[in-house]
Amino acid sequence: MGQGRPSNILAIVGGGISGLVCAARLGQLNIHDVTVFDTGQNAVGGRCSTRHVQIEGKTYIFDHSAQYFTVSDKRFAKIVSFLHSKGAVKVWPGKIGHLKKGRFSTDAGITQAFIGSEGMRSVVECLASLSKVQRPCWVGNVSFDSVSRKWQVDKYGFFDYLVVAHNGKCADKLMSSAGVPDVHRLLRVRFGDELVVRDHRMQLCSLWVLLVAFREPLKLSFQGAHVEHQDISWIANNTAKLGQKFPASKIECWTVFSTREFGTANKVPQENIPPGKAQGVTNKLLAAFSQATGKGQLPEVVYSRVQLWGAAVPMNVLATDEECVFDSFNNVGVCGDWLVSPCIQGAAVSGLALAERIHQHCNGLVTTSTSLKPVFVPASGHIIGAFPTDQNMIFTPSKS
Ligand SMILES: Cc1cc2nc3c(=O)[nH]c(=O)nc-3n(C[C@H](O)[C@H](O)[C@H](O)COP(=O)(O)OP(=O)(O)OC[C@H]3O[C@@H](n4cnc5c(N)ncnc54)[C@H](O)[C@@H]3O)c2cc1C
Repeated sequence: MGQGRPSNILAIVGGGISGLVCAARLGQLNIHDVTVFDTGQNAVGGRCSTRHVQIEGKTYIFDHSAQYFTVSDKRFAKIVSFLHSKGAVKVWPGKIGHLKKGRFSTDAGITQAFIGSEGMRSVVECLASLSKVQRPCWVGNVSFDSVSRKWQVDKYGFFDYLVVAHNGKCADKLMSSAGVPDVHRLLRVRFGDELVVRDHRMQLCSLWVLLVAFREPLKLSFQGAHVEHQDISWIANNTAKLGQKFPASKIECWTVFSTREFGTANKVPQENIPPGKAQGVTNKLLAAFSQATGKGQLPEVVYSRVQLWGAAVPMNVLATDEECVFDSFNNVGVCGDWLVSPCIQGAAVSGLALAERIHQHCNGLVTTSTSLKPVFVPASGHIIGAFPTDQNMIFTPSKS
């Protein structure tokens, strides 16, 4: 370890994919005293999460944020391979594609799609088991003491390094008075459904999600589809995707995401959705679902719930050659999807890159900061995120 750094106590604020991968990699690199703080009430994971819902005495699983992911990066492939060996991920064998005016076409661009074995929560729970995680825990205040060169993290104590592994309003607010204005400048955020290209801020869209269970199966030919419709952008059959089977039950559970425009037009405080709004959004998304699938009259709805992802998916990413942000003078790093690509792979790769950077800094191998210029470029991908693929990278499950 570098001289003058007796300990490597590190706090990671955010237990989504990026924070958990960063923590796990730091552990592998022998930096063990790492704590991940996350707000999750029921689980870690942030935007990679699953809801367990009781319907007529049985537990049904809905993925209510990330739906599936693809792999094009060799470093991420190793992580997926590890997760597969632990039984946390599997290949989604069902049909995925595009739905336009009631017509489905498969997505030829996707070589392999991966899902969590029991919903996306399996992925983050497996990663979380590798590190020390404190939750539910909301970090509301952090500050750097330039004399002791320590970060104070709320009431949780002093740390040599701070990692910010979340974005959106919370990260913007948290870092606004942390004493690192150059880092804070990168975390400023704006919301909208149309990208403002010359604005030097991260831009996020808002998306509504409808979780709906029907009494009878819809008998659609596919399991997941990116939808071309003014109100909805994605639909997926969780029951088929996760192979959920209960004797004597034909219940089918679907996830439906809105478009960005619908998200903006119907924006309300996500923690406090007025009941009237929830009902109105449910009705509109169900009507759009019926229209987009061409099903007309839908079967009886036995369960429904809507949720607003206020800070859903980054519409731009930081224009930098690095995959993370690191301020070597103030011992603070940032990782997340908005630094690489708005997807599971992007978030994971960013967490990995930051872990390597911190490890090198601890060992005195790197003393410089990454670029801290707030220049953003449009992100590519679908409304619910990017699905990078490499035709040559077909995953063959190992036997271990
Ligand atoms: C609706 C939706 C659908 C998506 N679909 C897909 C998909 O199908 N495939 C795909 O690849 N990607 C998809 N994405 C994108 C993908 O989910 C994200 O790119 C990825 O999960 C981001 O991970 P992250 O670690 O960067 O951030 P996050 O997952 O946002 O993690 C940040 C964590 O920090 C926590 N946190 C925030 N503030 C604090 C605080 N003050 N104190 C403590 N903890 C805090 C949050 O609760 C959260 O757990 C989707 C996203 C959304 C919203």
